[in-house]
Amino acid sequence: PEPDPQTGAAVKAADRAHVFHSWSAQDLIDPLAVAGAQGSYFWDYEGNRFLDFSSGLVFTNIGYQHPKVVAAIQEQAGKLATFAPAFAVEARSEAARLIAERTPGDLDKIFFTNGGAEAVENAVRMARVHTGRTKVLSAYRSYHGSTAAAINLTGDPRRWASDNGSAGVVRFWAPFLYRTPFYAENEAQECERALAHLESTIAYEGPQAVAAIILETIPGTAGIMTPPPGYLQGVREICDRYGIVFILDEVMAGFGRAGTWFAADLYDVVPDLMTFAKGVNSGYVPLGGVAISGKIAETFAKRPYPGGLTYSGHPLACAAAVATLRVMEEEGVVENAARLGAEVVEPELRRLAERHPSVGEVRGVGMFWALDLVKDRETHEPLVPYNATGEVNAPMAAFGAAAKKRGLWPFINMNRTHVVPPCTVTEEELKEGFAALDEALTVADEHTV
Ligand code: PLP
Repeated sequence: PEPDPQTGAAVKAADRAHVFHSWSAQDLIDPLAVAGAQGSYFWDYEGNRFLDFSSGLVFTNIGYQHPKVVAAIQEQAGKLATFAPAFAVEARSEAARLIAERTPGDLDKIFFTNGGAEAVENAVRMARVHTGRTKVLSAYRSYHGSTAAAINLTGDPRRWASDNGSAGVVRFWAPFLYRTPFYAENEAQECERALAHLESTIAYEGPQAVAAIILETIPGTAGIMTPPPGYLQGVREICDRYGIVFILDEVMAGFGRAGTWFAADLYDVVPDLMTFAKGVNSGYVPLGGVAISGKIAETFAKRPYPGGLTYSGHPLACAAAVATLRVMEEEGVVENAARLGAEVVEPELRRLAERHPSVGEVRGVGMFWALDLVKDRETHEPLVPYNATGEVNAPMAAFGAAAKKRGLWPFINMNRTHVVPPCTVTEEELKEGFAALDEALTVADEHTV
């Protein structure tokens, strides 16, 4: 498309005058005015094009503007643009059926929400009503959303300002060998100690008071820490022993991101409740939900579920999900994420790690990878301190600016850059992205010891 700086300037001016942005000091941001997007790329009004290694906020698993999904939304809008949640509606029924067919075990009933945080709120409510208990255990190094319960369950600094309503929330440490909270020397030790820590946390909280344990199957924003073998099964056993509901949050890890339909498939574990959003329809229309096991569905078979949303299972969102899931099946999107993740992303990232002293650790699976950037490879000291802002964060800001200058849009959180392109990404696009990343990492290298 032709550059159109004048329109870009008007879009930006109206944004600056009237749009109040998430998580931001409003006067200190400079949002890029986006003119359009296609596949793995988006572009501005000045004629700059970016390869999106962040998939928006890790949600465009099938890339931007997939023609079949766009057409399905248009068709649904013409047929039945909206309808109240108490009715049986074709798009909603079909979306629920297709999701339930893919979720593990007996997670066969779907409660629809508008996004991930509402999914977490409702999963927690279901667990509390089901067990008659109140406490919920969640991990440090996690993100579960920014509504009341979801933000209190979140284990990152974004929670601090909302830390006044955490009734019943108890946090624990999940395994992460590279920055081990357990002084472990290997994965087996980390796993064993993390499980012992969880179990003693439960003992001291009172097992009869614990309604649920919630974990991201693979923590996403907190750093893509794939759990050690046996950990999630261990948590499953602990939950079974004490009658605690096991909630897996697959809002980011689900729908192809991990190279499987759900990350839980990788670890052969079935939770009692599973939250999803993002990739379910690539974010074309807001949608999330909770997949519910038979046991918990039974609780609400004869007794009303005390929760609901005006737009639960919105027809446009559900039609987008149906089309997205069909596209993923037809085009082998999950297989593409698994294959290119193993054959291209992992070896390329390990090559970058060899060349760049700022890369402390490479970790991930499928199309879900993180580079942990460090000042010092020996001590693992992060390139910038935890929760750094302003001048202290300058090394990460310089790295990000260098990537963007080379046409790569990175996903950056604290001292990490994540490699999370659409699951439809091609090998050529990946190589283009790694060439840009290679150059940008030289900027990070300047800040190593
Ligand atoms: N849970 C996880 C694991 C997430 O990554 C996110 C968002 O990034 C959420 C929940 C919250 O989802 P939403 O922003 O759609 O409310």
